[in-house]
Amino acid sequence: MKFPAHGIGLRVFAARSTRLVCAAVFLALSFLPSGCGQNQNHAIAPAGAPIVRVLLLDNRPRVDLTATASPTLRVGAGQARRLDLPRGTAIPIFYTDAGWKVGDSVLGPGELTIEPEVDGSVAVNARAFRGRYRFVPRGGGKFDVINDVDVDAYLKSVVSKELFWNWHDEAYRAQAIVARTYALYVSRTASEGTNFDLFSDTRSQVYGGISAETAKSRSAVDATRGMVVAYGPPGQEKIFKAYFSSCCGGVTQSAAAAFGDPPSVPLSEQNIGPRCSESPRFNWAPLVMTKREVTRRMRLWGAMNNQPEKGIGDVARIDIRTNNRFGRPTSFLVTDARGYRYSVPCEDFRHALNTDATDGVTLPSSFFQPVTEPTSIRFTNGHGFGHGAGLCQWCAQHQATAGDSHEQIVLGAFPHSTLVQVF
Ligand SMILES: [Zn+2]
Repeated sequence: MKFPAHGIGLRVFAARSTRLVCAAVFLALSFLPSGCGQNQNHAIAPAGAPIVRVLLLDNRPRVDLTATASPTLRVGAGQARRLDLPRGTAIPIFYTDAGWKVGDSVLGPGELTIEPEVDGSVAVNARAFRGRYRFVPRGGGKFDVINDVDVDAYLKSVVSKELFWNWHDEAYRAQAIVARTYALYVSRTASEGTNFDLFSDTRSQVYGGISAETAKSRSAVDATRGMVVAYGPPGQEKIFKAYFSSCCGGVTQSAAAAFGDPPSVPLSEQNIGPRCSESPRFNWAPLVMTKREVTRRMRLWGAMNNQPEKGIGDVARIDIRTNNRFGRPTSFLVTDARGYRYSVPCEDFRHALNTDATDGVTLPSSFFQPVTEPTSIRFTNGHGFGHGAGLCQWCAQHQATAGDSHEQIVLGAFPHSTLVQVF
């Protein structure tokens, strides 16, 4: 399929039709050069995959560098220089008043960039990543380590960390598309002045580095290279924050209810039914927490997040306040012994109740019915694992084994969405 007027055609797969678009998928955020309808000979997609910036290590006083080939270093806007390092030996890096100290070499102050000679030939704290490293001073001799890596290279160790090793190729491909979209959306909407886009853990997506890649994850990323999920009128599709979670429990949550995001069609709730019932947490057994423990966790969460719950009295009862149209709770009403009532959005409630869970009792999801007992709260009729918004991984695996393609899986997870190839 070609779109000769633009030089590079964008392949679009849509439930409603298959066609080509001049993609505005990146929110006019400078990822794609402008040119749609203006310069018909302008290439509208970059040749390579865009770079994302991943925070690997946070506020460290020291890290160890191991290289199997001599990397190139640059401090601030200074000259790049090759640094000869003993091969395979861990070299400590510190940030001192005089600047960077890499083994015996003292370099100047400022941001330090390390460009491996060969992709993956430099490891930080014994873990090798593709792309380059930036070391950013934080003050007090501490620094962050950030990995600038092309999004598809990044995904090769995200997809493998997010799914079971023996899951279906089509589930892996669906996950690659969704994780790519999520990463690019977060990257393109990052606040100005931030040094990184993504955490390397569940706060964004779990990223393990080269040793975490598998043949299956590499193949899934390569097979879907450059493909994202988007939404909008024909020709004006935009990417969105393509969430995913482990198990929806039969009803997905909208991103608006789960995260307070603006309402959006592709991230609205859906009534799925028992498709992901193979998940061990499709139904979960009742959990009991004493009111005293519920109170302690809510106060602690409130204090950590500066929410009114920090001052809640002894919790007396918990009720569902609102459900979505398919009966999944979207907010809870917590009443304390003084009669004060707190309306808590569903995912805030789950995070609050899972704060400092020293006894190991945690809520797998916010999809349950609370029952108030004299001294405790019983969480009954529990379904699902995770926030439940967007792609359900267990649903994806079920669909893949039933013969659905990765395109069908992704388009089904995000209502009225379209697949677009952007690089
Ligand atoms: Zn599901």
